[in-house]
Amino acid sequence: KSGFIAIIGRPNVGKSTFMNRVIGQKIAIMSDKAQTTRNKIQGVLTEDDSQIVFIDTPGIHKPKHKLGDFMMKIAENSLNEVDAILFMINAEEGYGRGDQFIIERLQHVKQPVYLIINKIDQVEPDALLPLIQQYNKMYEFEEIVPISALEGNNVDHLLELLKTKL
Ligand code: GDP
Ligand code: MG
Repeated sequence: KSGFIAIIGRPNVGKSTFMNRVIGQKIAIMSDKAQTTRNKIQGVLTEDDSQIVFIDTPGIHKPKHKLGDFMMKIAENSLNEVDAILFMINAEEGYGRGDQFIIERLQHVKQPVYLIINKIDQVEPDALLPLIQQYNKMYEFEEIVPISALEGNNVDHLLELLKTKL
């Protein structure tokens, strides 16, 4: 089994942290500053029964200038080349205009989109259900998976899920 998976989401939701945990190397650049991941950086997770290529996209977000516009096109194009998309959000921050913009872009996408609710180590368990209900109204997600990329909670479960769908 093999496939390509893109990770999208607002800056600082934890995309690079997730990549690094999964691939086990510091391949993506991590920073608190927005937009430090400038290129499509790919990591390959190879196991006995599967191979998954992860693409850490530059943030798809509202462009403020021409370069942002151009980078957004690259990011959008890469979405059409993958088998599945992980749309990562920050459980701490909840829904915002950045997410709204991404969900609008996803309307044209045919691939399965997984909503990954990251940083669950930062919120009370009670806070998750309202968040899930809110996002569920906006898009038909393939699955909704809460994780902590930093601490590793539920990351193995997510990988198993992705493998079964490849
Ligand atoms: P990116 O911009 O989406 O690639 O986000 P990064 O991976 O660079 O993460 C941004 C910040 O969030 C960093 O300080 C990370 O350490 C932190 N972070 C990422 N995942 C988690 C998580 O699951 N829990 C917590 N508490 N912090 C996280
Ligand atoms: Mg990053």
